[in-house]
Amino acid sequence: TVGAVAVDVEGNVACATSTGGMMNKMEGRVGDTPCIGSGGYADNHSGAVSTTGHGETIMKVTLARLILFYMEQGHSVEAASDMGLAYMKSRVDGLGGVVTVDPQGNWAARFSSLQMAWAAAQKDMLHYGLYVGEHWSQNI
Ligand code: ASP
Repeated sequence: TVGAVAVDVEGNVACATSTGGMMNKMEGRVGDTPCIGSGGYADNHSGAVSTTGHGETIMKVTLARLILFYMEQGHSVEAASDMGLAYMKSRVDGLGGVVTVDPQGNWAARFSSLQMAWAAAQKDMLHYGLYVGEHWSQNI
C-alpha cells in the first residue's frame, strides 16, 4: 500500500490509498483498498484515514470509517486509530496500519502489523518539515 491523508488550511481533509494486493494482486480480487470506508474515508466533520494490511479483515470492520466514528465520539487521532486496530484484532483477528488526520491537523501513524514505514510533512509557521520513521503500536 501507498496511502496518504491530507488537511488544508481551511480544514478540508482528503485520503488516497493504492495497493499491489496482499501477495501481488490475485485475479478478480477487489480487496479493501477501493472500498469506501475500508481502504480509506474522508469527512471534514471528523477527519481522514488511509489503511493498509489484511484487506479481508479490514473490510469486515470497515476500519477507516470505524476510526472516524471513534473520533466523532471525541477520541484523538492516536487513540481512535489504536481503538480501531484493537477492535479489528479482537473481533476478526486482523492486523494492519493506518494514517489518520483530523481537520485541526493532528495526525497519527499507527499499526498492529509488524512494521509500517511512514512519513509526514507539516506546515509549522514558516517551516516545512519531513519526518520519516517507524512506530510500534502499544497495547495491541
Ligand atoms: N490492504 C491491501 C489488500 O488487502 C494490502 C495492502 O496493500 O496493504 O489488498
